Amino acid sequence: MRRISVFGATGSIGESTFDLLLRQGGPEAFHTVALTGGRNVARLAEMARALRADLAVTAYEDCLPALREALAGSGVAVAAGPQAIAEAADRPADWVMSAIVGAAGLVPGMRALAHGTTLALANKESLVTAGPLLMATAARHGASIVPVDSEHSAVFQALAGEERSAVERVIITASGGPFRDWNAQQIAAATLAQAVAHPNWSMGQRISIDSASMFNKALELIEAREFFGFEPSQIEVLVHPQSIVHAMVGFCDGGIMAHLGPADMRHAIGYALNWPRRGEVPVQRIDLAKIGSLTFRAPDETLFPALRLSREVMELRGMAGAAFNAAKEVALDHFIAGTIGFCDMAVVVEDTLDRLLHRNCLGNAPTALEDVLETDHLARTEAAASVQARRA
Ligand code: NAD
Ligand code: MG
Repeated sequence: MRRISVFGATGSIGESTFDLLLRQGGPEAFHTVALTGGRNVARLAEMARALRADLAVTAYEDCLPALREALAGSGVAVAAGPQAIAEAADRPADWVMSAIVGAAGLVPGMRALAHGTTLALANKESLVTAGPLLMATAARHGASIVPVDSEHSAVFQALAGEERSAVERVIITASGGPFRDWNAQQIAAATLAQAVAHPNWSMGQRISIDSASMFNKALELIEAREFFGFEPSQIEVLVHPQSIVHAMVGFCDGGIMAHLGPADMRHAIGYALNWPRRGEVPVQRIDLAKIGSLTFRAPDETLFPALRLSREVMELRGMAGAAFNAAKEVALDHFIAGTIGFCDMAVVVEDTLDRLLHRNCLGNAPTALEDVLETDHLARTEAAASVQARRA
């Protein structure tokens, strides 16, 4: 039986993964080693019972009594805290879903790779903060990483069987989010509720807001660079409001392979789950005649400065990705809390990068996970100071 673990099981990607695992046979087909979640311990316990998991872990110590109670008599072991999550990743598994949101997903992903697992990677922050380390760890331990981000899954699929040297460019699409047709004034006044309301995809709160600000696409540019190894100049973003084409790969003979799929993450998750084969996935089939037209346009980097910042981060490399992501997470926390406005997020991120660049903190490439965690910490402190300065 294939041994599997799901990190971030109770989130949007985690729920879709759970759905597919059940449809593909649940506990009869998979041996579930570990499931992790956050404060929603009732749901985590439900999933652990349904999959007959060995272990369920909540990220929060204060949630442990509730989790223990919810799993009493089930035979599922329980644990809590970041250390317990990291230890859960040390339990050997053949397939591991990395679907924690934010930099917190990095450590369990790295630990799982060190055991030679196949890592289905939804946590794009891992590649943004520590791409070279992650890829080197996978290579060293004979582990595989299969991207789950829809655009990167699309590129991965379009590249199958192709020679890498024949690739000229990669185009990842962006729906443009809820503000794709808004002007600067409207965007500046955007509220949390408006930013969360994604027109095409149903996702977690944080990635939904990142889609509205295009920080999600900014992270994805870096993710594409780190995972596939293309030069920044080879990776383009195209706004495509229908979210049907997820990515395209352009070859040296002028041909382009496009990947089309419904705006349902179960396609990319299912691809990663069944890789290197393909399996039946219950997503809606695309009816192009009904959709009628697919449209594309260039993104506006003035309205969405996250894209410009991402280009700068790709040029800087070194620790810039870790700093960029951490600053973005802090800025996002403050936007959600209502302490800064929508457009302030990019200002805080740019200011944080400037501060760290000034102090020569971004140059060196990470040689160990500790380097990344240190930069992450430093950038969070600077970003908090930047937020304070804006509020004063
Ligand atoms: P989500 O907020 O719905 O779920 C996040 C999960 O991580 C939950 O299980 C939560 O309990 C857990 N979690 C949160 N903070 C944690 C912490 N500090 N420590 C441990 N666990 C923690 O997020 P999501 O939308 O499912 O996204 C998960 C990841 O997948 C993100 O990296 C996101 O960028 C990526 N992704 C998501 C989608 C999507 O459609 N939702 C698409 C592409 C990529
Ligand atoms: Mg994506």
